[in-house]
Amino acid sequence: MRPFIFSTAQTADQALSTAIEAKDAKYLGGGTNLIDLMKEDVERPSQLIEVADLSWNEIRKNADGGYSLGAMCSNADTANHTAIRQNYPLLSMAMLSAATAQIRNMATNGGNLLQRTRCPYFFETSMPCNKREPGSGCGALEGDNHNHAIFGWSESCVATHPSDMCIALAALGAKIQVQSVDGSTRMIDFSEFHRLPGDQPESDNNLKSNELILSIELPKPQFANHFHYLKIRERSSYAFAMISVAAGLEIKNGEILNVALAMGGVAHKPWKLKASEDFLKGKAPSQENFKEAAELAMRDAKPLSRNQYKVEMGKKAIVRALSEATDRKSN
Ligand code: SF4
Repeated sequence: MRPFIFSTAQTADQALSTAIEAKDAKYLGGGTNLIDLMKEDVERPSQLIEVADLSWNEIRKNADGGYSLGAMCSNADTANHTAIRQNYPLLSMAMLSAATAQIRNMATNGGNLLQRTRCPYFFETSMPCNKREPGSGCGALEGDNHNHAIFGWSESCVATHPSDMCIALAALGAKIQVQSVDGSTRMIDFSEFHRLPGDQPESDNNLKSNELILSIELPKPQFANHFHYLKIRERSSYAFAMISVAAGLEIKNGEILNVALAMGGVAHKPWKLKASEDFLKGKAPSQENFKEAAELAMRDAKPLSRNQYKVEMGKKAIVRALSEATDRKSN
C-alpha cells in the first residue's frame, strides 16, 4: 500500500476545501471498497478525507412525503430503518441481499453509490484494463467475460455495475443531492448519476471534480405492497449479482397502475427497463404479460462470447420477480 495523507472533515465545506487543495484526494466513508482497492494498488489517492462524521447521517421524511437518506448513514441502518422497511421495502430487501452484515454495518450510502466494478481484470494489476489504466486495453472483451455486460458496453469496457442498492434506487426513481466545490448544491436524477463506458471507462459516474454526495432523495412511497428483489449469484452469500431484478407494482382491481423495474448485473450502470414498465401499465398482472415484458427488456441485448446465458436467465428473472411481487400481499 502506498503512503497517503489522512485527514478528517467535520463539515461538508471543510471536506470540499481540503479536496480542492489536495491532488488526487478521495473521500472516505466506510472504506469497504476503497481501502481494498488501495491495498491491491488499483486506487492510489494521495490523500483520504474521512467524511463519515459529517452531519449527513440521518434518515428523515421530506415535506413532499418522500424520504432523504443521508450519504453517511450506514447501509445496515438504512435497510433496517422502520420507515424504510415500511415505505420502501424493495430498497430494504435489495440492500439486505448485499455483501455481509459486517460490511453493511460499515458501508455508507454515499460509498455504495461509488463502489467500483468487480471485474477480475480490474483488480489484477498485471492484466490490461482500460478502467484502471486508460489505453491499456480490456482483458475481458476477448477473455473471461462470463459475468460481464450484455447492454450498453463498448469495446473499451464490458464491466457491470456491482451495487444492489442502486438497482432498487433506479427502479424507484431516486435523486442524488451533491455539493459542488463552490458550495452550491444540485440534484442529479438517478438515471443520470452513473454512466456507460463509451471511450472513457475510467469514469463510473457524472460527478464533477471533488463533488461530495450529501443524500439520496426518494420520491413519495409507492410499491410497498407488491415488490421483490431477485438476486441470482454464483454462491448464496457475499457474492455479486450475475443477474438481479428490482420489481415494484401498484395493482388495483386486477390492473397494474404503476411499475418500477430495473436490472443489475447486465450493464455498466443500473439498467432501467422503461419499455417493459410502459408495456405493463394498464395491463393485468398475468404470466403472459410478464413474459412479454421480459421479451421487450431483452430485445436489444448484445451478449459477449461467454455470457449468452444472461439473455435467457434475464427473461426468467424478470418474470419471476414480477410474479413474486404480485403474490407478495397474500404472503
Ligand atoms: Fe477493465 Fe472494464 Fe475491461 Fe474489466 S471490462 S478489464 S473493468 S476495461
